[in-house]
Amino acid sequence: MTTSPHLGVMGADEIDRHASNLRGAGVRLLRGTFADAGGVLRAKQVPISRAGAFHSPGLGASPVWVIFCIDDGIAFTENFGAVGDMRLRADLEAAVDIGDGVAWAPLELFDQDGAPMSFCPRGILRGQQAAAETDGLSVLAAAEIELVLFGAAAASGDAAAAGSGGPAYGLRPLMEQAPFLDDVHRDFDDAGLAIEQLHAEYGTGQIELSIAPAAPLQAADANVLARILLGRAARRHGLAVSFSPKVFAEGIGNGAHVHLSFWRGAEPLFSGGDGPHGLTDDGGAIIGALVKHMPEVVGALAPSLLSDARLQPGHWSGAFACWGLENREAAVRLVAGTSGNPRGANIEVKCIDASANPYIANAVLLGVALKGLADHDPLPPEMTLDPGSLSDDERAANGIVRIGESQAESLDALEASAVAQDILGAGLMEALLAVRRHEVEIAKEATPAELVERFRFAWSV
Ligand code: GLU
Ligand code: MG
Repeated sequence: MTTSPHLGVMGADEIDRHASNLRGAGVRLLRGTFADAGGVLRAKQVPISRAGAFHSPGLGASPVWVIFCIDDGIAFTENFGAVGDMRLRADLEAAVDIGDGVAWAPLELFDQDGAPMSFCPRGILRGQQAAAETDGLSVLAAAEIELVLFGAAAASGDAAAAGSGGPAYGLRPLMEQAPFLDDVHRDFDDAGLAIEQLHAEYGTGQIELSIAPAAPLQAADANVLARILLGRAARRHGLAVSFSPKVFAEGIGNGAHVHLSFWRGAEPLFSGGDGPHGLTDDGGAIIGALVKHMPEVVGALAPSLLSDARLQPGHWSGAFACWGLENREAAVRLVAGTSGNPRGANIEVKCIDASANPYIANAVLLGVALKGLADHDPLPPEMTLDPGSLSDDERAANGIVRIGESQAESLDALEASAVAQDILGAGLMEALLAVRRHEVEIAKEATPAELVERFRFAWSV
C-alpha cells in the first residue's frame, strides 16, 4: 500500500461503507484525536451518523488547538492566535472499533477550503512516509510503551504506585494487576492492535508493552490508540496510568523507545552488508545521521519540562548521541538480526519519551534517516562501552555528545537546526517552540518535585 502525501476525501459510497460497517458492529460514536505540539491528545466526537461530516469537510477548530500547552496555557505566536479557523478531518480508513459502542480515528488539520495545513503533525509524517516510499524504501516502526500504574486517588495527590510496586521484571506485579492487564490484552486484541510482549519494568509500579511494527504513520496511530485503550482499561479498575517521562522525583522514568527497520525492495539495510555487524552502507548512513543530528532534534523527541530529568546517564534512556550493538546507554541501540531475533536487524532509538508527539517523533526519525541516505553519511565509530563510564575528555575524544540536559538548550538547538526546519516546516516549528518554551517558563517557577507531581498525568487520557 502506498501512502498518499495528503489525506484524500472519500467518495460518498466509501464513507457510507465505512460508517455502515462501524454501525453494524454496534458503534454509536466516533471519537477523533489530535496529538498537539505538547504531546497532549485533544479530541472531538460525533454520533456515528456524522462520521461522513467528520471526515469531510471536518469539524471546526481554532488555530489555538496547535498552541495549547500542557497546563492549558496558550502560547500565542505571530501566526497562531484567536483569529482564523481550521477543519479537523477524521481519517476513516484508520478508524478502529474499540468496543463499548465507540470507534476511534486520528485527525488531520485542513483549512476551510479543504487544503491541508502545512503544520499538521500527522500530515507531516504522512509526507515523510510518502517520500520514503517514493525513494523505494519501506520502513517499519514499533513503539515500546512504558507506564506507571497508580490508584485512582493519585489524581488528587496520593502518589503511591498501585500494588506493592515490584520486583522489577517480577511475576508479582503481573499477578497483582491481572484484572487490569487481562482487560488490556483483550481490548488490544479486539481492536486489532498486537501486543508483542508485556512485562513489569524496573521502576516502581512500572509496566512495559511492545506494539507490533507497522509503517511509521500507522505506528504513531497505534501508539495513540494504545494510550487510549490503556487509559480506558485503567479507569474500569479504579487505576490511573502515567506515561510521564518522570513519574517520581527519584528513580527511573518512562521511555517511549521506537524501533526502526528499513528495506530497499526485499533487502534489509541493517543486515547482510559489509559493515560492522552486517550493516549496509545505507544502514550505516541512517545510523550516522541519527547520531550526528540527535543533539539538534532531541528537543522534538524528549521535548518536555520533565524529559531532562528522565534522560540521565545510567537510566537506559540513551542520554548520549552514539550507537552500539545492544548498547542500552546509547541513543541508538543496534539490535542485530540473529537467529534469536526473527524480526530481523533493527535500531532502537532510546532517547524518546511519551511527552513527544508520536507523529512529530516518527517524522523526525524518518526525515533524519532520509537525509542520511541522501547525504551518504558515514557510520561513526561504535561505542562498545557504557558512554557514562567514560570521562568527559574520553567522550570528547570519541565525539560523543550528551543530549537533552536542558530543555531550553535543546529547544535552541532545534530552532537552529536546518534539518528540523526541513522536516517539520516553519509553521510547526513556530508552534512547537512556543509551546515548549512556555514549559521552560513554567519550570522556572517550580521545584523538580513539584513539576513531577503537577504533570504526572499530563500525557494520560
Ligand atoms: N525506563 C527506561 C527509559 O526511561 C528504559 C528501560 C528499558 O531499556 O526498557 O527509557
Ligand atoms: Mg523498558
